[in-house]
Amino acid sequence: MTARRIDGRAIARKVRSEVAEKVTALAARGVTPGLAVVLAGEDPASQVYVRNKQRMAEKVGIAARTIRLPADVSADTLRAQVAELNADDAVHGILVQLPLPKSISSAEETEILGGIHPAKDVDGLHPMNLGRLVAGEDGFVACTPSGCMRLLAEMDVSLSGKRAVVLGRSTIVGKPMALLLTQANATVTVCHSRTQNVEALVREADVVVAAVGRPELVRGAWIKPGAAVIDVGINRNAEGKLIGDVAYDEVAEVAGCVTPVPGGVGPMTIAFLLSNVCRAAEIAASEG
Ligand code: NAP
Repeated sequence: MTARRIDGRAIARKVRSEVAEKVTALAARGVTPGLAVVLAGEDPASQVYVRNKQRMAEKVGIAARTIRLPADVSADTLRAQVAELNADDAVHGILVQLPLPKSISSAEETEILGGIHPAKDVDGLHPMNLGRLVAGEDGFVACTPSGCMRLLAEMDVSLSGKRAVVLGRSTIVGKPMALLLTQANATVTVCHSRTQNVEALVREADVVVAAVGRPELVRGAWIKPGAAVIDVGINRNAEGKLIGDVAYDEVAEVAGCVTPVPGGVGPMTIAFLLSNVCRAAEIAASEG
């Protein structure tokens, strides 16, 4: 079998054009959705991500601005910056780019992210939005898992009653992914670094989502024939080439469909960020 290649770039374009239509409708009501990205420090990957987010936001008509802070910024300054953006009516979505500089402790990071107003939490990391996801209520959901769900929907992958395995249990990808798949009536197993015999669990799965950060961990021999495989991982090999958590060529021999890296999940993450900003602006406009 040769798997269908899931074209994340094309599907992300579709999502962005849906967002652009909504932005136009908001403009007719005198509202321009606004995104503020807080970028602390000089992490090169973060610089690239933030530039892409800003460029894509502008393309769909979202007013985006990046607030750059030095690597030695204090937690107090970050908290104050978030508070200022919470109070700014032109800003509908706030994103604090992670990772924060090493000088910020993980407790401080949690507090800074928790300081974002839940209505502006377009990354879906505020405890209120995480709680809504657990409860199955409407709220902002992290962009990467939302993008993965849309990829599965666009490929007509049925989830109800199916076995899904999520590799990784981070708050930003693995856990929300598992919750979304559960909501879609899949039976979900979450694997992490202490899970024994991951390979045997993956072999049972109709849907596999790999969000681990280990280059080409998932091999072709692990995959149930016809399974849908979503590769969230972004790694660089020794030659500096971008590769995922899935050995694409091997897996494509067995799977029903599989995402490439790059060009799979990555573009969807940004598209769903824009979608969340637009939704935040729509909610603010309907309330204001
Ligand atoms: P993370 O916070 O480092 O979490 C990695 C998870 O993988 C942890 O839960 C860890 O288990 C688990 N893990 C590690 N080794 C494992 C193994 N051998 N078998 C099974 N599970 C294992 O990473 P993340 O933020 O979720 O990101 C994961 C990957 O996705 C990274 O490559 C990241 O760059 C990429 N990413 C891509 C996008 C995108 O838009 N495409 C967005 C976000 C992240 P423990 O909990 O036990 O440590």
